[in-house]
Amino acid sequence: MGTEKWFEKKFFKTPQDEPPLPQFECCLCTDDCDGYGHNPYPLVDEEGARCCDDCNAEEVIPARLTGVMSFNEFLNRDSSEVAAL
Ligand SMILES: [Zn+2]
Repeated sequence: MGTEKWFEKKFFKTPQDEPPLPQFECCLCTDDCDGYGHNPYPLVDEEGARCCDDCNAEEVIPARLTGVMSFNEFLNRDSSEVAAL
């Protein structure tokens, strides 16, 4: 009955299989963090810049949402002006 063992090996990684997490300094709050971080764009537009989970959730995502909304507003205004012509 090797099926169960094969299944475990294939789908459940043991902790030893995980590579050690890299470390980075959050470019927004300058905390030292484990892991890969998040792309802080559009708040920081630098190659290799990373931000932590907290800053991503509290700063970067709202900034992106605001950017998307502004862009949509711009598009809507633009299309209505075109329609008025
Ligand atoms: Zn941070």
